Amino acid sequence: MSRRILVIGGGASGLAAAIAAAEQGASVTVLERLPRVGRKILLTGNGRCNLGNEHLEARHFHGTYPHAFAIMQRFDTKRFFREMGLYTRTDAEGRMYPASGTAASVLDALRFRAEQLGVQMLCDRQVTGLRQAGRKWYAFCGDTQFSADAVIAAAGGSAAPNCGTDGSLFPILRQLGLTVIQPRPALCPIPTDPASVKPLKGIRVRAAASAIVDGKCVRTEHGEVQFTESALSGICMFNLSRITAMHGKHTEIALDLLPDYSDAECAEILRELVRQRGTLPAGDLLSGLLPKRIGEVWVKAALGTAHAAAGELLHAEPAQRHLLEMLRGRRFPVTGTASFAQAQVTAGGAAGQCLTKSLEAKGLPGLFLCGEAVDTDGDCGGYNLTWCWASGTYVGKQAANQNNM
Ligand SMILES: Cc1cc2nc3c(=O)[nH]c(=O)nc-3n(C[C@H](O)[C@H](O)[C@H](O)COP(=O)(O)OP(=O)(O)OC[C@H]3O[C@@H](n4cnc5c(N)ncnc54)[C@H](O)[C@@H]3O)c2cc1C
Repeated sequence: MSRRILVIGGGASGLAAAIAAAEQGASVTVLERLPRVGRKILLTGNGRCNLGNEHLEARHFHGTYPHAFAIMQRFDTKRFFREMGLYTRTDAEGRMYPASGTAASVLDALRFRAEQLGVQMLCDRQVTGLRQAGRKWYAFCGDTQFSADAVIAAAGGSAAPNCGTDGSLFPILRQLGLTVIQPRPALCPIPTDPASVKPLKGIRVRAAASAIVDGKCVRTEHGEVQFTESALSGICMFNLSRITAMHGKHTEIALDLLPDYSDAECAEILRELVRQRGTLPAGDLLSGLLPKRIGEVWVKAALGTAHAAAGELLHAEPAQRHLLEMLRGRRFPVTGTASFAQAQVTAGGAAGQCLTKSLEAKGLPGLFLCGEAVDTDGDCGGYNLTWCWASGTYVGKQAANQNNM
């Protein structure tokens, strides 16, 4: 008789797990709390779904599960989708997207394949409890009970709760004895002092952004920074946000607005600009180098005014040095953490030390975890979905073949 497997959560990792288990001949049921499966997939990559990345490197992944990268290295995202009739294309940065250009075709491919394999997808079923008795597992959705030989917990984390991920499975996992590392929002804007960013609201600039924890630089990202009413945003901020969420108010963000030049080159550029534009208001000094509003705000922050003539304000070397220091590393205090509603992923989740190499809960045979439910998260660029497809497929196979291994 085929093994019965319950998958909790019909998101990216749950659908991948269901397909893999069914391909091994298991009888699979997905329990999804929302009226439809895969809601979050439709929102990914601004509706285009950045489903993977050609440049798979360990530095793009974080968390306590030590075997995550090895699982991903053995997984071929392109092939996974090609085998279900979905073609991909890759951009210059290595980010993979569906060839159709729409996330809906990714969800369709997963749903078609799951349906072909006879996976039962039960929606509007929120799992409220899990119990093991002998070699069987029981999942409870209110008064209804489902039994199985193995359970795959693929209920995601707490990020983007509008997609069904409210963290409701974490207390259930804790009750079973698993350690759950406190979930924190990641891949989200970084809140800062509104007075320093509000005047720049809506502006984007290329920069090197560094997370400074207790005065020490712990990570630098290059890319576009966006200013909002009360936060710093953009992909490089998203990638730093897991650090700021962890260290909170001990953190500052330093922005280098001239990352392509050496210190000596920057000093020379400034001297030249003062020669060329010395009679103009200081606020206009940098408009040939940076977005005009940024130049004005930075000059005002460094020199107290942007109205006086640039030559007057900057004739002395210390004033030039001060402006240069601001341009190369103006600090923004981190004033808090964005909400889960603003976050794309969850840092934290089931701790690596509670899981075996097979992503099975230690001491709870037959309970497997995958996707964001595990304390593994990736940078922007398709890395999070890579983890979901790879870990889902991996546990699907493990769960289906457990007795044969
Ligand atoms: C706006 C946005 C854009 C993103 N863009 C990208 C991108 O382009 N590339 C990328 O790699 N990553 C992206 N991500 C991250 C990526 O979508 C997630 O990491 C990934 O979807 C997580 O998959 P998962 O299977 O772990 O969980 P989810 O996909 O979140 O699925 C979990 C499912 O479990 C269900 N569930 C939860 N609790 C229960 C319960 N108790 N009982 C039953 N069902 C339950 C939920 O309703 C949900 O359907 C994006 C995220 C967001 C929010």
